[in-house]
Amino acid sequence: MKKRDKLAIIRSYYPQAISTIDSVNQLIDFVEWQLDLDPGHVMMADSICSDDVNSIQYPARASEFLGPFKLGGLDGFPFTGLTGMGAFASHVPDEGAVFIYYGPHIGITKDGSIGEINRVGQHKNSACCGAAKAALARLANHQIQEGVVTDLDYQMNTLEQILFRQKERILSASSPLYEATEVIYEAIDERINQLVAQTKYNCRYLLLMGAILINSDSDMGSFTETRRFDCIDLASGERQNLMTVPVTPKAAGQGAGW
Ligand SMILES: [Zn+2]
Repeated sequence: MKKRDKLAIIRSYYPQAISTIDSVNQLIDFVEWQLDLDPGHVMMADSICSDDVNSIQYPARASEFLGPFKLGGLDGFPFTGLTGMGAFASHVPDEGAVFIYYGPHIGITKDGSIGEINRVGQHKNSACCGAAKAALARLANHQIQEGVVTDLDYQMNTLEQILFRQKERILSASSPLYEATEVIYEAIDERINQLVAQTKYNCRYLLLMGAILINSDSDMGSFTETRRFDCIDLASGERQNLMTVPVTPKAAGQGAGW
């Protein structure tokens, strides 16, 4: 299937989505052209779901960065907390940058079904994100109690509490799973920004890219719809919104298309 046909399917839900491969390629161009840095001086961390599909569909070119340090747990919430953030912050090259890619994920099959994908070697589709779908099912069945978070299933219970706080919004939406994914994105974005504000970095730049990561069938690959792309100059503390900044001088006037 041609890339434009794949994008048409994904964009019926996420109009700004691009392939994750294109996103990584654009990011590397941005790092080289705009920050004048070698990708090998950028420490990448991600806060995305532990689901094996995210390792399988991870663009190979991301290996030009250092890392990744894995901040995420179920559905991408940054469960490693301040300690995880502090750990990789101390591994970054002095003149380099930190890049954090974060967000929940959701499956869309090539026939347009949301919340599932066809995985390698399987005849039937399976849930994606399985944790978000399970939490949503518990929400819809009124099985989530406020404040109940157990040791045995800490990450899942945390996701349940995130959804519980937006119960009416999610259950009244035309696609409750789509809406639940939006709610989880907002919770991750808020938490990442809290963690970043309390972490010291000994490098030049901090890049934050928040997104919905969209997985598809094994022959479709993955896609990303960027919601935030900020660059913080760590010497001045200045924060720039890069969503509309061209990737390269050549691309000026065309928009970056993150
Ligand atoms: Zn997941």
